[in-house]
Amino acid sequence: MSFSSDVKRELLSYEYKNRHCLTAALEAVINIDGYIGADNGHKLIIVHNENTDVLGAAQNFINRLFGAEVSCHKGNIIIEDEALADKILDATGIGYDRGFSIDSPIDPLVVSNSCCKRAYIRTAFLCCGSISDPNKHYHIEFVDNDYEHARSLKELIGSFDINMKIVERKNHFVVYCKEAELIVDLLNVMSAHRALLELENLRVLKGVRNNVNRLVNCETANLGKIVSASLRQIEAINYISKSKGLDYLPDNLKKMAEMRVMYADASLKELGEKMIPPVGKSGVNHRLKKICDIADKLKGDNNYG
Ligand SMILES: [Zn+2]
Repeated sequence: MSFSSDVKRELLSYEYKNRHCLTAALEAVINIDGYIGADNGHKLIIVHNENTDVLGAAQNFINRLFGAEVSCHKGNIIIEDEALADKILDATGIGYDRGFSIDSPIDPLVVSNSCCKRAYIRTAFLCCGSISDPNKHYHIEFVDNDYEHARSLKELIGSFDINMKIVERKNHFVVYCKEAELIVDLLNVMSAHRALLELENLRVLKGVRNNVNRLVNCETANLGKIVSASLRQIEAINYISKSKGLDYLPDNLKKMAEMRVMYADASLKELGEKMIPPVGKSGVNHRLKKICDIADKLKGDNNYG
């Protein structure tokens, strides 16, 4: 099962309690998936969707609003009863022109309540929406075949401060969003709470993973610094050892030099702890600096001497 079909299953289980919300939901189905046709001068409404569960929801909306049973055949609901068709068009505020094409912007009266706006958006997602698996990337979209409707859907979603974009793709108008936070808001507007939690959990996990990666990178950088300082010190020690021998160094520096060579990747603190008796970090730093100074002086003497 895809994340998208999980979200749809959750939305399909939403229970409407009011006629106003049911009307808004039915308007969405007919606006997006509906056609108004004529059969021997009789007006009829056809609703087409590949998803039989969406058609089942539409049958349920019509039954609850008008007490009418409409049948479904091969992905289509055909409402042949002209009186019923008129009632549906009246209630949902869907206009149509003489050519029987649906006049598609969303009727502001039908979606005047916030609950009805949500019902419309929820149903629009069922009819033409999809969401990507958030493990892969963040993307939610509504694929609309009518520009005016796409624009009014974007506006309706925008009333919840969720800014969608519209792009034209293969003669369709895609209302989409790629921002995780806004997708979470939109799932909330649609009451897809299970999906919302799943997405939020994933974002938290990703956040933790990013933090761990940042820490690892940071430690690697510190390790890099330790190693490059250590290499410089060892090079100095080798120079002294070759030119004068380590006995040239005072006893405390000689011991320090031997430890440095033995524990090349130890930090100053760790190095100090290994000394007998232990030496503090600044003491170690001071001694190593002295060793480097001596080496530098010897190199200088050789260059100029
Ligand atoms: Zn409502």
